[in-house]
Amino acid sequence: MGDFSLELNDDQKGVRDWVHGFAADVMRPAAAEWDEREETPWPVIQEAAKIGLYSMDFYAQAFFDPTGLGIPVAMEELFWGDAGIGLSIVGTTLAAVGVLANGTEEQIGTWVPQMFGTADDVKVAAFCSSEPDAGSDVSAMRTRAVYDEAKDEWVLNGTKTWATNGGIANVHVVVAVVDPELGARGQASFIVPPGTPGLSQGQKFKKHGIRASHTAEVVLDGVRVPGSCLLGGKEKLDERLARAREKQRAGGKRTKNAAMATFEASRPAVGAQAVGIARAAYEVALDYAKTRVQFGRPIIDNQGVAFTLADMRTRIDAARLLVWRASWMATAGKPFTAAEGSMSKLYAGETAKWVTAQAMQILGGNGFTREYPVERMHRDAAIYTIFEGTSEIQRLVIARSISGLPIR
Ligand SMILES: Cc1cc2nc3c(=O)[nH]c(=O)nc-3n(C[C@H](O)[C@H](O)[C@H](O)COP(=O)(O)OP(=O)(O)OC[C@H]3O[C@@H](n4cnc5c(N)ncnc54)[C@H](O)[C@@H]3O)c2cc1C
Repeated sequence: MGDFSLELNDDQKGVRDWVHGFAADVMRPAAAEWDEREETPWPVIQEAAKIGLYSMDFYAQAFFDPTGLGIPVAMEELFWGDAGIGLSIVGTTLAAVGVLANGTEEQIGTWVPQMFGTADDVKVAAFCSSEPDAGSDVSAMRTRAVYDEAKDEWVLNGTKTWATNGGIANVHVVVAVVDPELGARGQASFIVPPGTPGLSQGQKFKKHGIRASHTAEVVLDGVRVPGSCLLGGKEKLDERLARAREKQRAGGKRTKNAAMATFEASRPAVGAQAVGIARAAYEVALDYAKTRVQFGRPIIDNQGVAFTLADMRTRIDAARLLVWRASWMATAGKPFTAAEGSMSKLYAGETAKWVTAQAMQILGGNGFTREYPVERMHRDAAIYTIFEGTSEIQRLVIARSISGLPIR
């Protein structure tokens, strides 16, 4: 019992303070500008690359922190800086995780470095799963991958949507159907290398928040990739499909697929981003409440305001603890028997939305203007109940886990 501690160790504090410094000195001053421009902040990503914050090495080091807290601590600070720029910096990791989770050593070594580029020539990557008719319902995916045995190539056709960095990425990771009979189990992930003919950007979306992060459709029209671009390789895919067919023939119960297990482990990192946004808005509101005078006293002297701030802080701390627990569980290999990863993302996302709304209220008219950052934080927070699984889908996953029932 003596070993239990929630205190960060010196290494973790070092990383936290280093990322915080970048967030405060580089991201914050640039946040409003890139939100207005609604463009990828390449110069900021380049600054991050120059100090090693936008790099494969940094994420690898944070990921291998034996306590599991490396990633959430860094994410919270980055997104405290700014969520739109933060997502531009970490969007690549979504694709990198797709390769790390399913790729061979060789695929990881070949493609992950190309996702980041170099400090002098930074690149980004995109993970393309969602489609116009397949958002929460991944099994409705229609993008097809057909194997051309004669050429040992896969041919991809379909339209992806909502892809972070879609169309501007150096490397795209695309999820596609290889066996339509098998639903979500008949899908596989493919690398689409830089400059592959047939891949193009469709509509770029104008968004409510995280506007510095590029979100677009990706059109795949007869895209041919070498057999070596199938993540995990053909042999492993054939084995997996054979097992799934066997299970289907036997009328077997649906079991969690590998993608779901990966989501469960990656969701706390997304929760940590939401915690960062919430903390940023809370800090602005606390300062404001102490200095804004109405009726001859600072507004924080009113319980109505002070209690709101107390609730904001309590929820932020609770969200962080759920995130840390799930991150620790993922690293320690503990089974997510109650979908603790989903729990952390659900609670942190809802907290960010609620806390940023309270912050706007505390700032009154100023909170509603772009002179102050909380309206942007509120717009940014809204995505955290939508992407990486909506709040309803997180509840569905938790409900199924705790009940063992196929809740719909
Ligand atoms: C800014 C942004 C960035 C994104 N980045 C990426 C990316 O990089 N790669 C990628 O592949 N995708 C990405 N997405 C897609 C994102 O993951 C989806 O938007 C999300 O999964 C929800 O899908 P949907 O939008 O189709 O909503 P829908 O699935 O149509 O859901 C609509 C509503 O119905 C509810 N609902 C649906 N099914 C159920 C159910 N069974 N029970 C209860 N309620 C339900 C949902 O919770 C939601 O409230 C991004 C989206 C956005 C907006």
